[in-house]
Amino acid sequence: MSHTTYDCLVIGAGYAGAVTARELAERGNQQVLVLEQRDHIGGNAYDRTDEAGILIHQYGPHIFHTSDRRVWEYLSRFTAWYPYHHRVVANVHGTLMPVPFNLTSLHLAFSPEQAARIEHKLLETYGAGARVSILALRETTDPDLAVLADYVYQNVFLHYTMKQWGQSPEEIDPATTARVPVLLSREDGYFGDPWQGMPREGYTALFRALLDHPNITVALHTPAADRMQLRDGAVLLDGVPFSGPVIYTGAADELFSCRFGRLPYRTLDFRFETHDVDFYQTRGTVNYTVDQPFTRITEFKHMTGQALPGRTTIMKEYSRAYTGASGETPYYAIINDADNALYGRYRELAAGYPNLHLLGRLAEYKYYNMDAIAARALTLSDALLGEEHSV
Ligand code: FAD
Ligand code: UDP
Repeated sequence: MSHTTYDCLVIGAGYAGAVTARELAERGNQQVLVLEQRDHIGGNAYDRTDEAGILIHQYGPHIFHTSDRRVWEYLSRFTAWYPYHHRVVANVHGTLMPVPFNLTSLHLAFSPEQAARIEHKLLETYGAGARVSILALRETTDPDLAVLADYVYQNVFLHYTMKQWGQSPEEIDPATTARVPVLLSREDGYFGDPWQGMPREGYTALFRALLDHPNITVALHTPAADRMQLRDGAVLLDGVPFSGPVIYTGAADELFSCRFGRLPYRTLDFRFETHDVDFYQTRGTVNYTVDQPFTRITEFKHMTGQALPGRTTIMKEYSRAYTGASGETPYYAIINDADNALYGRYRELAAGYPNLHLLGRLAEYKYYNMDAIAARALTLSDALLGEEHSV
């Protein structure tokens, strides 16, 4: 027996859940039920207007960027874009230098002669325009480049990474610091992708448009466990076996009551402040890489282009270990061999439910950007609908 009203069940209304729901509803003409435990859609990309009238990102700064044409064109059906190009500076003992560390940063950090010598060696060794991870740069045997590697490591990566992860750059997944390479150019964009921008009316409006389809029903304030159970290889919805596709985008350990122990995550505390000035800082994001207990300060007006003189809201991010206490959100999976192996055990349990699909940053225990999740949601939808998509 199958549940009579719905063809598909989606847990979570972030990118993974909302894109899949839309695809199954629209392309597949299926009735989709979305269960979301929060009181809003959008997952961690959710934004809202605060008491000061500023559009803020409730769960940390989200800047959309992608090299994936399909994802860009797909999301562009649901939003227009404000053409924001993300540029970040690090506050290094009061000097603001571009991050990723680039040739401009080099000349801010060293004397003209030393900077010129290092620049020459850098270009000779790696080539103009190269992107070199800090861990790769630290393997250099050249004394001038070693001075540079040590400077960047100490002043850009070490303290920030300790604050963010509670571990040094050598201890965390190398792919994490490689997200922010040393750039052998004066290019000062944070992301190298051809398509970047902010949804013109905000992320929540984008999600509202995605989920606005007659075949989609969204139930907010609804943790999956209120309506869905897993029992002996069968998914139950409201106590009745459900045989349609079930797309689960929450944490994999929680789906199985953390029976093998909790998957480790970092959580964040966000502190918002409103100031009576036009702008608080010169960029959307300033990273604090040598001091302060927070990692970065974000000022939303820079990112959204919102015109509101005399007031601005900023946000400081404090990172700490996730404990699973109520009210805490798991934001960053701590990726290493042991944690991946633990995740693998949960994945194996999930494989015992043939119609259950784990999708998204939490469910897949990976460090995915928004575009990667949208791409994965489109690919899973293709597979579920039995359609190939040519790229
Ligand atoms: P989520 O957005 O986490 O959505 C999952 C949803 O499922 C949530 O709404 C949750 O409440 C719900 N849920 C979970 N469990 C249950 C349950 N049991 N029952 C019901 N509902 C449940 N990416 C970028 O591309 N650019 C950025 O600038 C960027 N900045 C970021 C900054 C921060 C601080 C963080 C933490 C992430 C950032 N990301 C950024 C990554 C981005 O947030 C993710 O790629 C994206 O949110 C993943 O979407 P998702 O649907 O997988 O997960
Ligand atoms: N990082 C750093 N200093 C910086 C920026 C980044 O040490 O100024 C490191 C840090 O370990 C961080 C990782 O690079 O977690 C990835 O940075 P990114 O900005 O991509 O992180 P996110 O925006 O996803 O939190």
